[in-house]
Amino acid sequence: MPDPDRTLRSRLAPSPTGALHLGNARTFAINWALARQRGWELVLRIEDLDHPRVKPETIDLVRDDLAWLGLDWDRELPLQSSDLSDAQDAMHTIARLGRAFPCALTRREVQAAQSAPHEQEQGLRYEPTLRPSNAGIAIENPNLEETWRFLVQPEIEIVSDEIQGAHAFNIAESIGDFPIWTSRGPAYQLAVAVDDARHGITDVVRGNDLLPSAARQQSLLRTLGLPSPRWWHVPLVRGEDGRRLAKRHGDTRLSTFRDSGTKAERVMALLGRWCGVEAESGDRLSAAEFAERFSIDNLPNRDITLTQEDFAWLT
Ligand code: GLU
Repeated sequence: MPDPDRTLRSRLAPSPTGALHLGNARTFAINWALARQRGWELVLRIEDLDHPRVKPETIDLVRDDLAWLGLDWDRELPLQSSDLSDAQDAMHTIARLGRAFPCALTRREVQAAQSAPHEQEQGLRYEPTLRPSNAGIAIENPNLEETWRFLVQPEIEIVSDEIQGAHAFNIAESIGDFPIWTSRGPAYQLAVAVDDARHGITDVVRGNDLLPSAARQQSLLRTLGLPSPRWWHVPLVRGEDGRRLAKRHGDTRLSTFRDSGTKAERVMALLGRWCGVEAESGDRLSAAEFAERFSIDNLPNRDITLTQEDFAWLT
């Protein structure tokens, strides 16, 4: 639980891997409305560490898309890649505690070791048989040119989520020793955990596909002696085939709607409908009206389907 005297702070944390689509927009609108309703400080943190998916040319687009919808932020943090010193320190601490070991296996080798080869939504499982026999020894100076995995303990990690309730995760069984560092720098789990802690983020709002990641981040934070934020994992927007919104569902990029003359307030009205907020006029909703009428208690806790009618309505 955050300390009541601490500033409550949340972050919009887009990865500039492409233009924002309707699903991202809905999650950001919820994050923004919660922050504005509850007086949280809201910071923008562009997460440009997601190699090789990052497309630097989309950084400005992400800011423009948010601003077009009317979602603002109190300040922008430097790009995630601009200062890796805290992540490096964290990597050193974890290695010194004997909770990390270097791993030279390729992805294919990790995959080949699986009894039933498949990739889960949450990533590739690292079989316990792959763990080197000396894993667990304290390492003073980890070579950061290598890949490092977190030595996962056989324990249950409970994530208490404000929207999803309490969920128990067995990280050792589901995913195993996961990567926290690669030759390119901190892996997502470590980078996000460290950044949320150093920026004093008390409330993380994001898609519920990241709920299993919250368990890994909590475990890393506890190992580092750092507090975990409160979690708010919101249901995702899916296509009619039930899959997570992607290119195959058509062009749902905000920039495409903007360029073809769709009004931002019409997009907000759809996002509102997906969040239990009806526009008074039916077809237009400003960001301010969204924040006024949004209620976390009315947020449907089931995934939303983008239908052909929604699509037609926007275009
Ligand atoms: N940058 C991540 C993404 O856009 C989100 C990370 C997070 O919220 O923890 O998928």
